[in-house]
Amino acid sequence: MIVSLHVATGAAAGVLLGSRKKALLAGLALHALGDRMPHHDINSQRFEIASGVAAVAALAVRHGLTSPIVVGALAASAPDVEHVLPLPRPGGRKLFPSHRVEGWHQAGGVPTWAQLVAAGVILGTVLACRPGHDA
Ligand SMILES: [Zn+2]
Repeated sequence: MIVSLHVATGAAAGVLLGSRKKALLAGLALHALGDRMPHHDINSQRFEIASGVAAVAALAVRHGLTSPIVVGALAASAPDVEHVLPLPRPGGRKLFPSHRVEGWHQAGGVPTWAQLVAAGVILGTVLACRPGHDA
């Protein structure tokens, strides 16, 4: 799943759950589910990083860096950092469970434009939420 949609689903979990700890756990679970959903990926690491950072930054400005919304957004997108940074690969495999299990990541299916639209709608909704109502 594209990074901005990972960020958006985690942020939505933060709104709904209203607790940093629950948002953290839900964000990680949502990442694994997002990778499971058959999807196309965007072939530009630069776009993926820039859109993810911009989305988290906007959420942090609106809701605060330590809000459940930002915690959820970071938890839901952080596992993909290992696609970019040279983190350890025990036994030659990546760290996050949904990246380790062969065949978990499903290519094809939901096109990138639909994921971008979904990310935009979810992020727009979360950004329109009153700051602090969740914290
Ligand atoms: Zn992933």
